[in-house]
Amino acid sequence: MRKSVVAIVGRPNVGKSTIFNRLVGERISIVEDSPGVTRDRVYAEAEWLTTTFNVIDTGGIDMRDEPLIVQMREQAEMAIAESDVIIFLLNGREGITAADEEVAKILYKSNKPVVVAVNKIDNPEMREDIYEYYALGFGEPYPISGSHGLGLGDLLDTVVGYFPDMRDEQPDVDTVYFSLIGRPNVGKSSLVNALLNEERVIVSKQEGTTRDAIDTHLRKDDQDFVIIDTAGMRKRGKVYEATEKYSVLRALKAIERSDVALILIDAETGIREQDKKIVGYAHEAGRGVVIVVNKWDTVDSNEKAMKQFEQKVRKQFQYLDYAPIVFLSAKTKKRIHTLIPAVKTASENHSKRVATNVLNDVILDALAINPAPTVKGKRLKILYATQVAVKPPSFVIFVNDPDLMHFSYRRFLENRIRDAFGFTGTPIKIFARKRQ
Ligand code: GDP
Ligand code: GDP
Repeated sequence: MRKSVVAIVGRPNVGKSTIFNRLVGERISIVEDSPGVTRDRVYAEAEWLTTTFNVIDTGGIDMRDEPLIVQMREQAEMAIAESDVIIFLLNGREGITAADEEVAKILYKSNKPVVVAVNKIDNPEMREDIYEYYALGFGEPYPISGSHGLGLGDLLDTVVGYFPDMRDEQPDVDTVYFSLIGRPNVGKSSLVNALLNEERVIVSKQEGTTRDAIDTHLRKDDQDFVIIDTAGMRKRGKVYEATEKYSVLRALKAIERSDVALILIDAETGIREQDKKIVGYAHEAGRGVVIVVNKWDTVDSNEKAMKQFEQKVRKQFQYLDYAPIVFLSAKTKKRIHTLIPAVKTASENHSKRVATNVLNDVILDALAINPAPTVKGKRLKILYATQVAVKPPSFVIFVNDPDLMHFSYRRFLENRIRDAFGFTGTPIKIFARKRQ
């Protein structure tokens, strides 16, 4: 199910990133610490009571060179386009400024719920001063203090209360949802068009139930697919849409709704820093992954070149060793027929369930080849394994002491499971749990 999205809008220095960090807390990605992977902190998951949702810090989208008023307008429009509920943040020590009024005007015209939060109300006496913010016309203003963590509960109660009913947006379980992720100009729109014009593909363009998503439905080889729209594929040109962080944000949103993420790489220009920024997210989010090397018409496309390019990709994205690599040209349509089968395989493996007895046989065989290690005189004992989830396939291994299950041994078991069941195109997760 899609998660609701909350955007924080407000002038520079009102405390947007302070609030963002409060909401997101410790939930920031571990992938950030992995070499070669960075993640922009403009979009992250937060939790309030039993609800998880995503938060955007619109102030984190870099529009440095634009005048303040233009930045504010763009921020407000981005919030309207990308979120379900908007937190309009003001500085309780400065009153309402002209820039705030500009933002209010734009938000007022949208039909998205807006909740006014007045920040830097660090002590209760100051709460008396917030009544002027009623004048913005968005109802009750919420006094908060980002740095002291005050008032956030009441604010979030109201914000969560505005979340749309997502029941209409339940994905169809028989349909494979995928997205095309990659830098501007890597060929995302060209590839969508090429796919849609392929033989035996039946296309029905359908407005997504999500207001801002235009999903494309297609059917091939008796399988329904939905292509989720990503950054760069639709209206272009706005200041914020040209920024890198915004395209990352759109990509993260699309990945979230996908079963399989197609990571596009330009054969002509090779792998760039920006490519690395989002692929870690697809992996960590537990989505299926297919790597697509596009513009294969521009290089001398023999077997050897393919092997060499593959080695480069494998070296740059070591944690994606399970992802198949497809070489094609959206322009000449060469090898394009290889794509949908790769997506289908990744999706099937992503939702694959294996039999518990076979799984335990595989683990026993693994133990015979490479006995569980002894750490400080204590030997890891593996008792039993079971698959607990799909999308991605997740396994719990019951052991005497989870601390004895080191990374390398976990990796070894993962490889044995992969060899036995063929999980091409999907990450798998392995958890060690204590059982006496
Ligand atoms: P942004 O530019 O809107 O993202 O604002 P920041 O989150 O970077 O905050 C701007 C400044 O305001 C920083 O120096 C923060 O420490 C400070 N600040 C944020 N929240 C509060 C608050 O609740 N009370 C006070 N007194 N200062 C705050
Ligand atoms: P997007 O920004 O990722 O949607 O990229 P586009 O689909 O707009 O493509 C960007 C540019 O790359 C356009 O000029 C395309 O014609 C070109 N292009 C896309 N796919 C290919 C390809 O397979 N081969 C070549 N030579 N050019 C391509």
